Amino acid sequence: MVLTLIEHGDGEIAETSLEMLTLARDLADQVDEDVSAAMFGGEELAAGLGEYGVDTAYVCGGDLSESYAPEARADALGILMDDLDSAAVIGGGTDTANEVLAHLSAKRDLAMAANTLEVDTDGETCEITRQRWGGSLLEHATMEGETKVFSAPDHELPIEPVGDGEAAVETITPDVDEASFEVAIDRVEEADIEGVPLPEARIVIGGGRGVGGEEDFEQLEELADQFDGATVGATRIAVDEGWVSHDAQIGQTGQKIAPDLYIAAGLSGAVQHWVGAKGSENVLAINTDPEAAIMYKGDYAIVGDLHEVVPELTDAIEAATD
Ligand SMILES: Cc1cc2nc3c(=O)[nH]c(=O)nc-3n(C[C@H](O)[C@H](O)[C@H](O)COP(=O)(O)OP(=O)(O)OC[C@H]3O[C@@H](n4cnc5c(N)ncnc54)[C@H](O)[C@@H]3O)c2cc1C
Repeated sequence: MVLTLIEHGDGEIAETSLEMLTLARDLADQVDEDVSAAMFGGEELAAGLGEYGVDTAYVCGGDLSESYAPEARADALGILMDDLDSAAVIGGGTDTANEVLAHLSAKRDLAMAANTLEVDTDGETCEITRQRWGGSLLEHATMEGETKVFSAPDHELPIEPVGDGEAAVETITPDVDEASFEVAIDRVEEADIEGVPLPEARIVIGGGRGVGGEEDFEQLEELADQFDGATVGATRIAVDEGWVSHDAQIGQTGQKIAPDLYIAAGLSGAVQHWVGAKGSENVLAINTDPEAAIMYKGDYAIVGDLHEVVPELTDAIEAATD
């Protein structure tokens, strides 16, 4: 059995879980096993997983679904893993799936590979390809062990419906130790984000150290105001300086963007930043240094001081769209 950890929110299965099922099905086909799913709540969505190749969905309710307690969920997953004699346990590319799987692996002393794109197995050993360093390099590795644990990277695998059958749904109540609920989320506060969220923005204006200060970010905001669906992002330096909030950070330890246009102003294009921006369709770099890495990544580059270039760009767009 290949056991998958399926996440959901706002009445939908998480996209990253559906992407992960593509990997899980491939692995299950190689070892001639079925794919089953573990869910915490979301019973109404469980049968629909049949469309993505899930044979049986096991839904945990009660305390396990009401609040997110990573260790308790890992224990529940471990109980199911044992009951189903699972060859592999796989989750999607979210922080929460990785956290639950890491607890499971640590407690059971299992091998875990995060961000796995491909698995080739003879039923014993797995040859895997996985992303490292935020996707800037691919690692080929060999995994051994009775049960292997994987997570798939976010938004890298295709979602592939494979049929229109329904998954069988079973409600279960794994006997999880009370102590494992000790760490649990007791409330969620929505971030106070203005405008379009970075991952959904059609145009992103990114600023880095070269912007120079909190007030200077206003210039980037004014440029963003010229477009529908535009928002301002930043490098980690700008966040660490306190010029913008952490929600605006793009990169390995920030958010990933995939806009039609990324205007990157006063930032060097360090690899940790670029892994979050490389999904951009077009890039316009503005930098005083013609040798900055971002100038080579972009489709268009303007060598110049952003404090002159950005207001001119804003005025030109305003004049053209009036
Ligand atoms: C584990 C780890 C994780 C990290 N995660 C992230 C991450 O998620 N996101 C991230 O961004 N970084 C991340 N970093 C930091 C990253 O390595 C870089 O230090 C950072 O991205 C650089 O920010 P910057 O481009 O703003 O600054 P700099 O590298 O200092 O570049 C500033 C640029 O501005 C240009 N400039 C200066 N003045 C002007 C001007 N007036 N007009 C035009 N251009 C000007 C300069 O020529 C230069 O190219 C991470 C680092 C580590 C070690």
